[in-house]
Amino acid sequence: MRLTQEIEPNVEFEGIDCDFCSSKKYEVWAQSRSNRLTRCSDCGLIRTNPRIKDKDYKYKKLYDSAYFLQKNRFTKEEKDARIKTYQKEYSSLFEIVKGGKILDVGCGMGTFLCGMKGDWNKFGCDVSEFGLQTAAQFGIKTYLGEFEELNFDIQKFDVIYMRASLHHTYSPSKCIKRAHELLNANGILALTMCSNSDGVMGKLFRGHVKSYDQTVNYLFNSKTLRWFLEKTGFEIICCEYPYFGTGYNSIRDILQFPILYSKYIYARFKKIENSINFRDIASPAFYGNYLNIYARKK
Ligand SMILES: [Zn+2]
Repeated sequence: MRLTQEIEPNVEFEGIDCDFCSSKKYEVWAQSRSNRLTRCSDCGLIRTNPRIKDKDYKYKKLYDSAYFLQKNRFTKEEKDARIKTYQKEYSSLFEIVKGGKILDVGCGMGTFLCGMKGDWNKFGCDVSEFGLQTAAQFGIKTYLGEFEELNFDIQKFDVIYMRASLHHTYSPSKCIKRAHELLNANGILALTMCSNSDGVMGKLFRGHVKSYDQTVNYLFNSKTLRWFLEKTGFEIICCEYPYFGTGYNSIRDILQFPILYSKYIYARFKKIENSINFRDIASPAFYGNYLNIYARKK
């Protein structure tokens, strides 16, 4: 299932320079009927360009209750896969750090933090008031607003966790710099479920990769993300591609692939994909669709 929200026709868009290196040079990486993705010619960061200009519109209209509640309509298989993915992420984190003050950036309804066992003091922030109302019911201390603009009552954290949220932000560079400021010495920054442009499906489907939709502003790859983290003062601990053992890996996906996607693949290689309406097509779950990076503040 793909999460999609309709964008109203009068919404204003803006062109932007590269957020990681400020370069104005880019090439068009993917063009669909509703979105254009460009790739920075200097550092390789891919961005939705132009993007929705009005942050309030994006935050209030696109991340409203419908955005969260449509996840409740996931099939049982999808819900089970989500829980297994959480478990794998908890294990990866606990190998690095066992407890402390953790801030989940883009915590939504707080389900990820809620399932985390151990000696954790839990905090969450999000641009969605609806999500935070539910998160607060789980005992999570919540903050409403953009992560990079919040002061968190001058608190510092042992772990800052950004799960499937960095690609939604307007400035990942500001978020990573702010995380560095807000972490205690040797604190951990976890960037997980980041949309990855360099996986097999990313390369094949580009703007139709499963991890991309119109709420996403950026697509990353490990080289670009590692480079920017190191430049900001982080040491990379490890890089993972969550897929095997999550429940998202299915023999059915592989068997159905030629049936469901042959028309798209044909059009893609003939470079006529924009002449056919593939608006609703999204690549299958696959190894490399998402990227997890764990880094330590130096
Ligand atoms: Zn760049």
